[in-house]
Amino acid sequence: MYNKTIAELSAGLKAGEFSSVELTQTYLDRIKTLNEQLNCFITVTPEIALEQAKEADAQRASGHAGLLNGIPLSQKDIFCTKGVKTSCGSKMLEPFISPYDATTITKFNDSGAVMLGKTNMDEFAMGSSNETSWYGPVKNPWNLDAVPGGSSGGSAAAVAARLTPAATGTDTGGSIRQPASFCGITGLKPTYGRVSRYGMIAFASSLDQAGPMTRTAEDAALMLNVMAGFDQRDSTSIDRAVPDYSTDLNDSLDGLKIGLPKEFFAEGLDDEVAKVIESAVKEYEKMGAVIKEISLPTSHLAVPTYYIIAPSECSSNLSRMDGVRYGYRCDDPKDLNDLYIRSRGEGFGTEVKRRILVGTYALSEGFYDAYYVKAQKTRRLISNDFNRAFEQVDVIMGPAAPSTAFNIGELTDDPITMYLSDIYTIAVNLAGLPGMSIPAGFANNMPVGLQLIGKHFAESKLLNAAHQFQKQTDWHLKTPDLFK
Ligand code: GLN
Repeated sequence: MYNKTIAELSAGLKAGEFSSVELTQTYLDRIKTLNEQLNCFITVTPEIALEQAKEADAQRASGHAGLLNGIPLSQKDIFCTKGVKTSCGSKMLEPFISPYDATTITKFNDSGAVMLGKTNMDEFAMGSSNETSWYGPVKNPWNLDAVPGGSSGGSAAAVAARLTPAATGTDTGGSIRQPASFCGITGLKPTYGRVSRYGMIAFASSLDQAGPMTRTAEDAALMLNVMAGFDQRDSTSIDRAVPDYSTDLNDSLDGLKIGLPKEFFAEGLDDEVAKVIESAVKEYEKMGAVIKEISLPTSHLAVPTYYIIAPSECSSNLSRMDGVRYGYRCDDPKDLNDLYIRSRGEGFGTEVKRRILVGTYALSEGFYDAYYVKAQKTRRLISNDFNRAFEQVDVIMGPAAPSTAFNIGELTDDPITMYLSDIYTIAVNLAGLPGMSIPAGFANNMPVGLQLIGKHFAESKLLNAAHQFQKQTDWHLKTPDLFK
């Protein structure tokens, strides 16, 4: 049962082959026996899950069951969940029990989905390897010595190891696509504003976006159908009709114009990864797509631009964690200053502190124009590059990451190389575009993700292109040996 996709499980529930309670129990049992090896959950919620499963079964019996009814899912621990610890991977929020649900959680609850638990992540979503989590690193199910990617590494590993049929992730600079690539699953970062950020703990508010992490594009469409939509509680969410993302999956790709940015195939890309990407592109040619080389001339500015903007926004967003209102507070503060300094000093980890310092510096008087304003200008140039490219092509493709998963500990002392693992994903966030990573093969015995980038609100086109690829290939069906 655990090897099935959401679409298959949904059909099984509908046909009465099993109940949601049975299905949920199967996954809870797997989590119980296998999570210890992987560390992909921060919190498992068996009572809530079985209660929700019972309700879902009752709803189905009364004839009201949508496609996600009774389907077990796991939520990244960045989403506020009422009555359940919401830690964001940080010691700072270890004592935080959210008094409300994020909009994404409410929507999944309303659809009858079941929550198995909350997945591990880099602290406040800052990281590319899951090693910055206060709850310890997550292991990659394909090789337990390797990282799963980050920051949504717990979600990616849980889906890859079949501990959950699907999960949510968030992507500020690559955190859905890079772990999807490292773990051999499908991940979609929607257009900025497509999914509500209400109740999703903010890292960099102008970049953060939630999306599905699934086995297949078909499942990603089912999840996005629930997640997408306007929310008046998020002023950046967009009031625009939500299409049914499942309807265009089978459109023909004949004549689809695919752009390959030459900058994505230059120095820094692992040769074996490049080969996998090239053969994936050939697969698209066989389906009738037309391939064109394009250029994104300012793409080398994406990483430096991001590492000014994201830290600036996070330094502001994280100022609310002060030891006074909620979260961690140090023992026996001498005075108010001591309370602030020690609560933040003890509650935040090294990477988070590094970002707060960089961001505070970039925003301070005298440096603001030189760094922050400059970064906003280069952000516009990067966005313009994409606009120009999309005058010539429908979809842009390339690698999701320059390498396959590296080993735990390998890059912890080298933040710059770590930051470069998002070199192909970050520009997409800066431009607010939708992007996907889909399993495209293996290099060095580890999964490789093909990245698909679309115009604003072109999620249906990406899902269509991804689904057609998955009809021709079986990379997305592979299961890591240890978790078969
Ligand atoms: N790895 C990038 C970072 O460390 C992106 C993280 C993310 O998308 N949340 O900031």
